Amino acid sequence: MPKLNENYLNLQDSYLFSKINQKVTAYSKEHPDQKIIRLGIGDVTLPLGTHIIDELHSGVDALASTTAFKGYGPEQGYEFLRNSIVTYYSEHGVNITADEVFISDGAKSDTGNITDLFDKDNIVLIPDPVYPVYVDTNLMNNRKIIYIDANAENNFLPLPDSKVHADIIYICSPNNPTGAVYNHEQLQKWVDYALKNQAVILFDAAYESFITDPTLPRSIFEITGARKCAIEFCSLSKTAGFTGTRCGYTIVPKDLVFTASNGTSMSLHTMWNRRQTTKFNGVSYIVQKGAAAVFSPEGMAQCKENLAYYQENARIISSTLSQLGIRSFGGVNSPYIWFECPNGKESWDFFDYLLHNAQIVGTPGAGFGKNGKNFFRLTSFNSHENTLEAMTRFKKIFSSI
Ligand SMILES: *Cc1c(COP(=O)(O)O)cnc(C)c1O
Repeated sequence: MPKLNENYLNLQDSYLFSKINQKVTAYSKEHPDQKIIRLGIGDVTLPLGTHIIDELHSGVDALASTTAFKGYGPEQGYEFLRNSIVTYYSEHGVNITADEVFISDGAKSDTGNITDLFDKDNIVLIPDPVYPVYVDTNLMNNRKIIYIDANAENNFLPLPDSKVHADIIYICSPNNPTGAVYNHEQLQKWVDYALKNQAVILFDAAYESFITDPTLPRSIFEITGARKCAIEFCSLSKTAGFTGTRCGYTIVPKDLVFTASNGTSMSLHTMWNRRQTTKFNGVSYIVQKGAAAVFSPEGMAQCKENLAYYQENARIISSTLSQLGIRSFGGVNSPYIWFECPNGKESWDFFDYLLHNAQIVGTPGAGFGKNGKNFFRLTSFNSHENTLEAMTRFKKIFSSI
């Protein structure tokens, strides 16, 4: 009999979205005539830009041609895409080299797989509330997790505590689920803390393209010292509507060198390269053609149009909440709006109330950690019409919550 990884017994059921779906299905069965508006799940709704579609088609055509046919590509991604990403970063003042960029099928895989590079004996610091992947992938390896509270008092942007030591630090900015974004000074504190503790920061920048405020950092590598302590994960999922197409990238600087117990220097860049070439065979040529189109001027312009569409929805939601006197977080440089449930309601009760009285589906904060117990997440991934209608309904029922 195989001995199993019994750490899986320590995982909580990931029941959040299935529980939401069950509740919504049950409600719509009882009320088939009611129109439900979904502002819950973090998935994009607009189609891919036409330039991206054209390039995906050209990728397919290449596979039909004897001369342009592609088999296995480089595990790390095609040079043309890695170069586009280097140029994209340089436009934000960040210098990286193409061989520091690793193309993948998405940031969820990479943020999970990166744990391969670290021993079980590490102290992992994770903010709460959080994107559940960071927690579960560390529990699978039985690593010790310290949670750091993100709450209204710190604007959901916790800062390092010099009295607490950590080896691995997860930061997601702009944040899912809270929409909060760190500024340069705050991220500098994290980088300084990591350098002092010889820790590594795993920085999830999946929502960087939602940043409209030019003073906010879009990459951890805008921060002095970050090349010596940080890995950045990014994705075209939310930036370019690639949630179903699948493409992301991870930047592992060559300056990330630590000392092994026998005194040998170990480079995280070399290790990640080894990990990927051993366990991964690259992203399809077709998808990488589409991904490179995202970084072209036409592709960027089309993505910006879609982002502006979602940003307008976020503005509609945030301004409704503020009219009603509800303090909310996010919504400006993020597709997510996070707010305290009115009248001290717990998030699942508020979920039921909204579904039954306004036919709006959101996400209960409790699904993201204990600090989300009284909070709620709405997303801007829907049409203007539905977002406006949801907010009209919300205003109508607000006084009776
Ligand atoms: C959506 C999301 C991602 C992107 O995941 P993909 O696997 O690239 O689709 C990464 N991190 C966070 C926090 C997200 O919400």
